[in-house]
Amino acid sequence: MNNLIIIGSGPAGLTSAIYASRAQLNPIVIEGMEPGGQLTTTTVVENWPGYPDGVDAQTLMNNMREQAKRFGTEFISGEVKKIDLKKEPFTLTVGTEKRDTNAVIIATGASPKMLGLSEEKKLIGRGVSTCATCDGFFFREKEVLVVGGGDTAMEEAIYLSTLAKNVTVIHRRDELRASKIMQQKAKRIKNINFTWDSVVVEIHDLHKNTVTGASIKNIRTGKVFLKECDGIFIGLGHIPNTDFLINQLELDKNGFILTRNGSKTSVPGVFAAGDVSDPVYKQAITSAGKGCMAALDAEKFIQGLE
Ligand code: NDP
Repeated sequence: MNNLIIIGSGPAGLTSAIYASRAQLNPIVIEGMEPGGQLTTTTVVENWPGYPDGVDAQTLMNNMREQAKRFGTEFISGEVKKIDLKKEPFTLTVGTEKRDTNAVIIATGASPKMLGLSEEKKLIGRGVSTCATCDGFFFREKEVLVVGGGDTAMEEAIYLSTLAKNVTVIHRRDELRASKIMQQKAKRIKNINFTWDSVVVEIHDLHKNTVTGASIKNIRTGKVFLKECDGIFIGLGHIPNTDFLINQLELDKNGFILTRNGSKTSVPGVFAAGDVSDPVYKQAITSAGKGCMAALDAEKFIQGLE
C-alpha cells in the first residue's frame, strides 16, 4: 500500500514530489513515456525565474528530479495504463503491476497536436515551437508562421505580433474556427497576414538544423510555394493525456480534468496539477505552482484533515 502516487514527471509532478517527500509522505512518481515532460522537447528556457541567462531545459528537469530524489521520492519508469478511482484504496496498473494508494496526484500533461511531418519533431526548439509565450522572444523582428485557425492559433498570432516583424497564419480553410472576438482582434493587427486554404507540406531546413522556411500547398489549386521564415508555431491546440481517466473523473468537453478549491478533482483523494487540468495558461511555472498546491492538498487529505 502506498501513501501517494504521482503520475507524471514534468514540472507539476516533480514539484509535487519535492513538497510531498519533504512532508514525509513517501511519494512514488510514475515517470511516463516522456520523463521530464514536454519541457524536455525544447532547448533553452528563458522564463523560469532565477536564471537571468536562461537554463537548459533538460538540466532544469534533471535538477528537479534530483531534488525530489534527495528527499526520498521513489521513481518508477512506465506508464499508467489503467486506474480505478471508484473505490478506496485507489488501484493503478503500471505495465503488468498493480499498485494500491491512498491518494493520487495526476500530472500527466497535455500533448500539443502536431502536423505529422517528419522534420517537425526534429526541428522543435530549433525554430519549430508549440508555445508562443515560451519561445516568442527568440523571434523578435523575425518572420514567423502560425499554423491553425482556432483560438489557440489566434492567441499565438496576436502574442507574436508584438515581437515578430511579420506573422503569417496558415490555415487549411478559408474561414477561421476561432471565436469571432479573437478573429476580429487578429484581423485588425497590421503585421498579421492570412494565407487561406493552405497547408504546410515541408519544413526547411533539416540539414542546417534550423528553420529557414516552409513549403506551403494551396489545397484548392495544388500549387506549392516556398515561404521563407525564421520560426513556425504549431497552433493546433493540445490533447490532455486523460484517456485512462474516462469515466473515472469529471473532465471538461475537451478532456481536461476539472479542478476546484485548488487542485481537488471530483474524487476526494485525487488531485490534478499542470497542463492536464489547465486549458488556459500551460506554463512550466504555473504547472509547478499547481504541483505544490496538489502536494499540500494531498497531505491534508492523507492526514485526515479534509
Ligand atoms: P480547435 O480544435 O478549436 O482548432 C484547431 C485548429 O487547427 C482548427 O482551425 C483546425 O482546422 C486546425 N487543424 C487541426 N488539425 C490540423 C492539421 N492537421 N493541419 C492543419 N490544420 C489543422 O483547437 P484550439 O486549441 O484552437 O481550441 C480548443 C478550445 O479551447 C476551443 O474551445 C477554444 O475556444 C478554446 N481556447 C480558448 C482560448 C481563449 O479564449 N483565449 C485560447 C485557446 C483555446 P479546421 O478549422 O479546418 O478544423
